[in-house]
Amino acid sequence: MKLTGLMVMFLMILTVACAPQTETTSIDQGLEITADIEARRAQFVQKEMTADVAHLSDGDRTALKHLVAAARIMDEIFTVQAWAGNPDFSPKVAALDGRQAAKDYYRIMYGPWDRLVAFEPFLGDDEHPEGAGYYPEDMGEDEFKAWIEAHPEDNDAFTSLHTMIRRDDDGLKAIPYAEFFSEELARAAAELRAAGAATDNPTLKDFLEKRAAAFGTDDYYESDLAWMDLDSPIEVVIGPYETYEDGLFGYKAAFESFVCVAQPEDSKRLAVFMGQLPFLEKSLPIPDQHKNFNRGSESPIRVVDEIFTGGDCRSGVQTLAFNLPNDERVREAKGSKKVLLKNIIQAKYEAILAPIAQAVLPEGTAENLDFDAYFHFILMHELSHGLGPGKITLEGRETEVRLELKDLYSAMEEAKADALGVLNLYVLADSGVVGAEIIEHLPWTFTAGIFRTARFGTTEAHGLGIVIQANYLMDKGAIAVDENGRFYPKPEKFRDAFVDLTHDLLMLQAEGSYEKAQAMVDQYGVVTPELAAALGGLSDIPVDVDPVFPLEM
Ligand code: ZN
Repeated sequence: MKLTGLMVMFLMILTVACAPQTETTSIDQGLEITADIEARRAQFVQKEMTADVAHLSDGDRTALKHLVAAARIMDEIFTVQAWAGNPDFSPKVAALDGRQAAKDYYRIMYGPWDRLVAFEPFLGDDEHPEGAGYYPEDMGEDEFKAWIEAHPEDNDAFTSLHTMIRRDDDGLKAIPYAEFFSEELARAAAELRAAGAATDNPTLKDFLEKRAAAFGTDDYYESDLAWMDLDSPIEVVIGPYETYEDGLFGYKAAFESFVCVAQPEDSKRLAVFMGQLPFLEKSLPIPDQHKNFNRGSESPIRVVDEIFTGGDCRSGVQTLAFNLPNDERVREAKGSKKVLLKNIIQAKYEAILAPIAQAVLPEGTAENLDFDAYFHFILMHELSHGLGPGKITLEGRETEVRLELKDLYSAMEEAKADALGVLNLYVLADSGVVGAEIIEHLPWTFTAGIFRTARFGTTEAHGLGIVIQANYLMDKGAIAVDENGRFYPKPEKFRDAFVDLTHDLLMLQAEGSYEKAQAMVDQYGVVTPELAAALGGLSDIPVDVDPVFPLEM
């Protein structure tokens, strides 16, 4: 699963839908370019993604070059998966006279449709095929289903994650990725084997060799297991993973690659925090009977910097963290791994959160915003998902918080992770595990961050969760609004307010109380006129970053 994202889309639907109706400009390649193309392109701020590779061995640095080459091939494949017409269309785009914004936007979107506005065309007037490049464009849902009904033996191949559907004289047929993309995948496998030969890390070598073999067989199970065992300064994801691009059925997996490097100091800090988890569970502001000391074996977390990305994950809004693999069999055997992309988080912080702070905090106070405080908070948010009640017993019945809170669970769980994330930083600062400067900047950074997330709207779990927190904290006097409508924290009241908030959220989880969750949403989950006014001032702030990787030059 990738964590981006959808919420940003929601926001864009709002902003672009409010823009005045645009005329289109005809140009010489026979393509019409939407008149607001410059504004659309400006939503993505170009950011150079730097990462330190000095600590890598010579072998690993050689391996990186091969991995970047392999990731580029994922890009070639995904371009066809996104739209079968791309190979013929892209020379026309390249030949556009000037029109850099249109060329850039086509590159960012991997096609002539705007991923932020429900795949509306911005170049030409073709309609986006719902099934992307995976199915014949003239094939509808009914034809696909009718084919399977008439040919039940084709069911597995047709609904497989790893086949392309094409039409020939005999009707529809499923072509395995290993065959359809055989030329590209053979080149990618050769790069993976070369990287495997270069690295001195046995777990990386093992993964790369197994993944190279999988490219020839479409069987990714063994290599997914090897990826869970990967323990290397190079963190690489490569292959077919997410199915979002298949808007028709959600069957088909898109090729992508993240080539990343872990920084020793981040890994060390993460290890220290992980070591504190039992202590943090013990410190939760709820009665001991609701504490849960059996969650320790949950999924690992890694912090890395991106060196290069290609394919699905490079399109549209950039992922800032992912949780893989998706194969349930692997998840059962080995869990899943969450990877936080630190330099992407930093780029988004600079491009989006810093200007938000300028707009919502009182003038002259935005300097209290701090990336270290922000990153500590994100890290602690992720770790805090693993604290507190999970499996619970209600009147002798064994159940889970998730099942009891139903549709309200995600918003409550995101609010819990935020609130507990903040509180845990205070708790760890008591013993010096977290530095005093983090605590000093945290209230300001958190207050600005409210608006970054609230932009997603309250129909989305993170958005609803943050609005609940904002109103609760204002109720407790920990956040106030000045006469100019600017929001500011009262740091001396912050910790106590977060103890109360965390207590309330954890208790409704411990009790599995849908009623209390609903009461929380009713009382606090409303965008007040003050919040709405501040959010209204953010429409010019970028939506996302357009990463530039120095290694690609
Ligand atoms: Zn979360």
